[in-house]
Amino acid sequence: MRVEIVAVGTELLLGQIADTNGAWLGEHLAAGGVASHFHQVVGDNLARIVLALRTALARSDGVIVCGGLGPTHDDITREAIAEVMNVGMVRDEAVADAISAMFVSRGRTMPPSNLRQADRPDGTSIIPQTKGTAPGLVCPLGQKVIYAVPGVPYEMADMFERGILPDLQRRMAERGELAGVIASRVIRTWGMSESALADALGARIVQLDAGAGAAPAGEDVGAGAAPAGEEGRATIAFLASGIEGIKVRVTVRAATQEECAALLDAEEAEVRRILRDVAGDVVFGIDGEAIEDAVARSLVGTGWTLGVAESLTGGLISSRLVNVPGASAWFRGSVVSYASEVKTALLGVPPGPVVSEAAARAMAEGAQRTLGATIGLSVTGVAGPDRQDDQPPGTLFIGLALPGVPTEVIATRVPGDRDRVRQYATISALDLLRRRVGAVAPLSPSPAS
Ligand code: ATP
Ligand code: MG
Repeated sequence: MRVEIVAVGTELLLGQIADTNGAWLGEHLAAGGVASHFHQVVGDNLARIVLALRTALARSDGVIVCGGLGPTHDDITREAIAEVMNVGMVRDEAVADAISAMFVSRGRTMPPSNLRQADRPDGTSIIPQTKGTAPGLVCPLGQKVIYAVPGVPYEMADMFERGILPDLQRRMAERGELAGVIASRVIRTWGMSESALADALGARIVQLDAGAGAAPAGEDVGAGAAPAGEEGRATIAFLASGIEGIKVRVTVRAATQEECAALLDAEEAEVRRILRDVAGDVVFGIDGEAIEDAVARSLVGTGWTLGVAESLTGGLISSRLVNVPGASAWFRGSVVSYASEVKTALLGVPPGPVVSEAAARAMAEGAQRTLGATIGLSVTGVAGPDRQDDQPPGTLFIGLALPGVPTEVIATRVPGDRDRVRQYATISALDLLRRRVGAVAPLSPSPAS
């Protein structure tokens, strides 16, 4: 059973709102063990909605169309479905009564156009509405089916859970298809390029594919770009996510959530082992964990505190650190030392070029001292677009002063425009911090300041 999502709304095409319903449905179809191979977005235009529905029915067994069920003249999903089914419209008196009653109970008079929401194509049944006025529709077409739900996200989600997923799973059971569970986990990395990751994990991916036997990967079931194949077999995909690093997504399919979790645990361990062997400590988190969460995790329990000196990042580093609840336990603060004189006056940076190893070292030690922190972290560099201190945009010096070891300075170069350089500088500095603290802290767990 393959299901296709059709999101209706000109505002989606114009980019005024994002198709979060499509994303939500994709995630929940996968979690419910339903394959979904296509998403469409179409404007509020009868002929084009009809075309989208016909296209979907030609290649999928089920279609979920969301949006365009409201009372206004541009809500025409019902009419489009009637045309595709080649049937007329009937008024559902029970729905009409419910809509009228709702207006009465709120002490409002009902605009006559609202009764349009009680119309449904002949031969369809409704998913009763509990929250708004428009009911959803279940529209059979031979062995196939169209479901229609309102665009309002919470109404859509409620009807999916109540009226669509159970119906899909019943249809899958009738067809003898396993209604298992598809689950994925994102392993988050920083410090390796996408191609280096693909090289490192290439042999493992080939191994997993080979385990699939005769069936081509993702032929039966799939969650978008990384379909989970045979039950028990994992698939691996890469998602370059810019300033959030590169994500390695592992997807599995099994009968229950528990079995999926066990498979994901095993594959996560394998991916971590392979990456550690090839490139060291490049995995900083799982799923929604950001780099600042990894920093917090490395610091908690050490008793250490952190002070930061930022130049080109202008406060981005501290802004990310204070995203973490409880950061006050270890984050002392940040000196945004943008001007050279401020670097000298507040942090003791010696005269000379400020985009330099010497400046980064002095800034890290200055932050440690001035902010009374165990650890000092600093970043200086060139955000661009112009060169500075004879260095090209993207040049970075990251300083790290840890207790008990000499202050370290990393020189690196990152790509991109001014904004990206500042973002990459931020994540690079935080990544260096969490790696070194993770490596050094267990050896010297007592507060040193
Ligand atoms: P209503 O009965 O409330 O009029 P409707 O079925 O007519 O619902 P739309 O008018 O298409 O739905 O959308 C209602 C609102 O729901 C939109 O203004 C938008 O905020 C939101 N919405 C619609 N489609 C989507 C989508 N694909 N993703 C996220 N939000 C959406
Ligand atoms: Mg509407």
